[in-house]
Amino acid sequence: MPVRFERLALIGIGLIGSSIARAARQAGIVGSIAVQSRRPETVATAERLGLGDDYTTDIAEAVAGADLVVACVPVGACEAVAKAMAPHLADGAIVSDVGSVKAAVIRQMEPHLPDRVHFVPAHPVAGTEHSGPEAGFAELFRNRWCILTPLPGTDPDATARLRAFWEALGSNVEAMPAEHHDMVLAITSHVPHLIAYNIVGTAAHLEEVTQSEVMKFAAGGFRDFTRIAASDPTMWRDVFLNNREAVLEMLARFNEDLTTLQRAIRWGDGDTLLELFTRTRAIRRGIIEAGQEVAAPDFGRQAMR
Ligand code: NAP
Repeated sequence: MPVRFERLALIGIGLIGSSIARAARQAGIVGSIAVQSRRPETVATAERLGLGDDYTTDIAEAVAGADLVVACVPVGACEAVAKAMAPHLADGAIVSDVGSVKAAVIRQMEPHLPDRVHFVPAHPVAGTEHSGPEAGFAELFRNRWCILTPLPGTDPDATARLRAFWEALGSNVEAMPAEHHDMVLAITSHVPHLIAYNIVGTAAHLEEVTQSEVMKFAAGGFRDFTRIAASDPTMWRDVFLNNREAVLEMLARFNEDLTTLQRAIRWGDGDTLLELFTRTRAIRRGIIEAGQEVAAPDFGRQAMR
């Protein structure tokens, strides 16, 4: 039997919420969709795009009667959202989220949710540098991982239903403890974003190289960082504030390795550089083989030609 939810409530309808709405509708696994957002402008955009069946700024109204509620708001907003929805949740509802950090979201949401609902935190590892309901698309989650971080007491049936939901949206699903998720994502996503924000910031502060030269010669590698550094500022502020320990741990290791490279350059130690660059090339090949990237050169920039 394919999974089915009678009423899906999306709390927050930006890139991720609107992609869930589109993908769930396309997969035919929801009866109706209630769309909620904080600002009336965002609700109006969602309505114009036809993302749901009912639209509101009121969280209580949105979650009433829903058997699946997914919070699609920045990590730092999860506590307020959990508090607002808690008294109005239907008995037996599955409550989930899509936050890029998991332990902090659990700390924020779990204490407020009543025992009569099932809390199954989740993180779709899929996204773009764009935000808002217009940025979403139904294929966003296809062949991307979604990580579930159920709590020790979570009902296995609820976890299985949420797994089936994400699979129906096209995702591959894996479950792991929240703390482990936060470590894995610190190195695969959070630190890379910090590096991109930092290098683009450094280029902006240079005096010897003009801004117009940075723009003109960006194809040398810089532009790949600018795409990542264009990601949503609020979302990423919240990620770093809420995954502090794991990010600091990974950054410490990163700094150690950077110092090794710095020393190799200083002492003309080409073997160290060559050995690392050869290993990193193999890692990219592994990512392509895992279907998480395509081998096409200059991927995504064909339109510029
Ligand atoms: P987004 O496009 O910026 O949309 C954010 C949504 O949250 C909007 O509906 C916005 O409402 C609402 N919101 C913002 N601040 C709020 C607050 N303080 N209180 C209540 N609602 C608030 O964001 P997104 O990219 O969909 O990200 C949503 C979540 O998905 C985040 O937790 C993020 O960590 C996670 N995530 C993102 C990506 C990615 O690549 N973007 C990937 C995986 C997971 P208004 O517009 O009405 O203000």
